[in-house]
Amino acid sequence: MAKSPDTSKIPDYEKWQLSNSEWKERLSPEAFAVLRKEATERPRTSPLNDEKRDGTYACAGCGYDLFKSDTKFESGTGWPSFWDYIPDALGTKTDIKLIIPRTEYHCARCGGHQGHVFKDGPEPTGLRYCSNGVALTFKPA
Ligand SMILES: [Zn+2]
Repeated sequence: MAKSPDTSKIPDYEKWQLSNSEWKERLSPEAFAVLRKEATERPRTSPLNDEKRDGTYACAGCGYDLFKSDTKFESGTGWPSFWDYIPDALGTKTDIKLIIPRTEYHCARCGGHQGHVFKDGPEPTGLRYCSNGVALTFKPA
C-alpha cells in the first residue's frame, strides 16, 4: 500500500527523479544508504537529536521542507522524532522487511526514505515519525 500526494503540485518534481548512480554522486555514503536503500542510522548518532532551535527540517536529498521544529519532541529513542509533518510533504508505504509490517515514509518530491511512523507519539496526533537525522538538514528560522 502506497500513499502519496499529488506530484503535479510539487515544485520541481520531475527534476528530482534521479537514478541511483546520480544519487550516489550527490550524497554521502551514509545519506545514500538511508535515503536510497532504506538503511537505518545508528541511534544517538545524529546531531539533530539535540537541535532545539526554531526552524524547518528539510530532505537531505532534495531540500524539500518536511517537518517544522514545533512538531519535534524528545522521544528518548535516539532518533529525531516528530508528531506531524508539513502537509503533503511525505508519502508512505507499508514496509514488510521485518515480520511486523511498519509504515515507511519518504520525501514526497525525491522519494528519499526518511524513517518509519509509529502509533505511540504524543497528542494531538498520537503519532511518532521516527526520522533518520542523516536524511534531514536543519534550516534555522
Ligand atoms: Zn527529497
